[in-house]
Amino acid sequence: EETSEAHRPIKIAEVGSRHDELWDISLRARIDDAMQAGEIFCVYQPKIDTVAGTLTGVEALVRWHDPERGFIPPMKFIAQCEKAGRMEHLTRYVLQTACNAGRLLHFRGTAISMSVNISATLLGDMRIVGIVRNTLQATGFDARYLILEITETSRIGDLETAAAILTELKALGLRISIDDFGVGSANFETLFELPFDELKIDRLFVDSISRSAKARAITSSMVAMGNAARITVVAEGAEDAKTLQILNEIGCRYVQGYALARPLSLTNLLEYKVSSKEVASGT
Ligand code: C2E
Ligand code: MG
Ligand code: MG
Ligand code: MG
Repeated sequence: EETSEAHRPIKIAEVGSRHDELWDISLRARIDDAMQAGEIFCVYQPKIDTVAGTLTGVEALVRWHDPERGFIPPMKFIAQCEKAGRMEHLTRYVLQTACNAGRLLHFRGTAISMSVNISATLLGDMRIVGIVRNTLQATGFDARYLILEITETSRIGDLETAAAILTELKALGLRISIDDFGVGSANFETLFELPFDELKIDRLFVDSISRSAKARAITSSMVAMGNAARITVVAEGAEDAKTLQILNEIGCRYVQGYALARPLSLTNLLEYKVSSKEVASGT
């Protein structure tokens, strides 16, 4: 098991808050170099079908290991990437890395899906469609196995434009997922207007279902809604066996979380096997 999360960010804590702004600026200046230097890479977190006990796919999660600063959390540098206008560039890089990894997995006989996070800020114009199309062509990865997770849906500027772009993307053969559902205003209007195939319930809810009846009721209704609409529902952030069992009881079949697997390096992913004792089915 992983891994890179283990020796995580010591150096970041040393940066005092008054230096934050300066630090952010130098971070922005370093992003392009870091991509060139290979300091930015992906890890892959398994998404498990807990009923069948199989690996259905992985989510590519970007990592930045700066030789001087250590690991920089994605939430931190993604925000900087947005500010610096480099989000499109980072996304192209991650897509290419992930599709290459997906292709390799398929070659090795592991035909699983590959999920890539796409910031909603890129749904403002059609350029993202060209980027995805070109990446699929260049890598030879089968579009039917690609899932684009739309994050930060609250930042969708114009729903109609976003819906049109997602429709074009789906026409390439891939699937669309709404990430962090329940937080960040992925509201019912968003759900109603956007074409998508999967909902990912945010960790905020999943993490609490073993302790809070309220969280359990809310999560259960999100699962029921998705199941009724024939949309794949994925719970993210399941950290223990009890949470897995409750997810099983409320009919949430697909799960990601530390209880099942941490994000893995590609090398570790190639060796990964779902262990039957890890899944909730039958318990
Ligand atoms: P996300 O897409 O919702 O990804 C799930 C996050 O939850 C990941 O954090 C993952 O490592 C973490 N996680 C998964 N299972 C558990 C668990 O059981 N317990 C806990 N405590 N955490 C768990 P990570 O990798 O730090 O990524 C944070 C966010 O950064 C992602 O949230 C996503 O919004 C964003 N992100 C990551 N990679 C990319 C990328 O390539 N592009 C864009 N636009 N955003 C990305
Ligand atoms: Mg995601
Ligand atoms: Mg999420
Ligand atoms: Mg999240």
